[in-house]
Amino acid sequence: MNIKVVCPHCLEVNSVEQKVSYFTEHCKVCDASLLESKPLNVNLAILDYFIATSELPVIVDFWAPWCGPCVTMAPHFETAALAMPLQAQFLKVNNDDAQTQNSNIIIVNIPAVLVFKDGKEIDRFTGARSSKQIIKWVQQYV
Ligand SMILES: [Zn+2]
Repeated sequence: MNIKVVCPHCLEVNSVEQKVSYFTEHCKVCDASLLESKPLNVNLAILDYFIATSELPVIVDFWAPWCGPCVTMAPHFETAALAMPLQAQFLKVNNDDAQTQNSNIIIVNIPAVLVFKDGKEIDRFTGARSSKQIIKWVQQYV
């Protein structure tokens, strides 16, 4: 079965064969590795595009530079993202820049990590978690 994945480098849609693990997988447009799964910093417009397009769960960390727990969790979120290439797509949104008040995503406390699947939010947690806890949480939805 093939799934639609958004290339984190050029944002083009790729159709990728769904596997348990991948040895190599490159974007058909820009040729960069789709296994490069470091969290991508995006704005709300690009987040909406990922949510509407990707057939992988979209995991989003809403954070801000002044937020201590957000900064503490950042390397853990990155570790989790790097551990799960092509299982989920990991994004970060700077909540100070994001103007979520103009969107249908309601963020009260940060860090807030949301998971979107089939175009809608299906779960979230708030407060810092370890990479192990994040991976375990995301695995419920892959
Ligand atoms: Zn690409």
